Amino acid sequence: MKVFVIDQALCNGCYGCQIACKDEHCGNDWPGYQKPQPDTGHFWMKVLQKDHGQTPKVRVEYKPFMCQQCDKCPVVEKFPEVATKRPDGLVSIDPERSAGMKEIVDACPYGAIYWNEELELPQKCDGCAHLVDAGEIPHCVDLCATEALKFGDEEEFADILDDAELFHPEYGTSPRVYYLNAPGLFIGGQVYDGNEDEVLIGAKITLTMPDGSKQTTESDHFGDFWFKKLQPGKYTVEMNAKGYDVKTVDVDLDKSLNIGDFDLTK
Ligand code: SF4
Ligand code: SF4
Repeated sequence: MKVFVIDQALCNGCYGCQIACKDEHCGNDWPGYQKPQPDTGHFWMKVLQKDHGQTPKVRVEYKPFMCQQCDKCPVVEKFPEVATKRPDGLVSIDPERSAGMKEIVDACPYGAIYWNEELELPQKCDGCAHLVDAGEIPHCVDLCATEALKFGDEEEFADILDDAELFHPEYGTSPRVYYLNAPGLFIGGQVYDGNEDEVLIGAKITLTMPDGSKQTTESDHFGDFWFKKLQPGKYTVEMNAKGYDVKTVDVDLDKSLNIGDFDLTK
């Protein structure tokens, strides 16, 4: 059974995969697999972009997203005459028999299915099944220059799938697309000496986690500090530099936060 593995730490948001999908499907008819994708309006592969933080501490998260090739796809369950779970795990919609069935679009909780107005067809990523059946890999995977996208037999990735996350597991559809290194939330800030008007380098910053455990880091050459890959919850940040007062800030984290600049002389 095939899986996609997407390493978000390697994705630089170049949108190459999104363009690769267009390259493979716009204007191309793959008989028995897919009718042509319209030139506009469809994103069978889509790079989702989310901004984290507040100026000047801002990070952008990129998340390539497509049909998750779910083992419990409601489209397959509701429309077995047109949608198929293939033996290799890919989910396909028959481009002939699904004509006119707009109701299929709403059956996917991920919103991964698009309606082709001109051909009156529901369409989505099928993992480039026409290429896979020819012994090749999906075009987006092939063109990703950073190898953020991978595709292959589940066993090939056995050692890394334990650390992977699913997108919207609460939908209960058992996706076959695995995400590695999701950035999570961050807490960032800066420490400085207000009397000298200088940033403080090497200050010890301690983060108390919601479960009481601690992480430590040091302020960098800009006086900045970062704690990354955090989950929502209540945290405490303690800033401590030799010869200065200790400063403590409670943080109720529900989105990435720049908690500000702190003058440790006050
Ligand atoms: S082609 Fe690769 S690096 Fe570029 S956006 Fe897609 S997954 Fe990210
Ligand atoms: S993402 Fe939607 S269409 Fe694709 S397999 Fe999952 S439920 Fe089905």
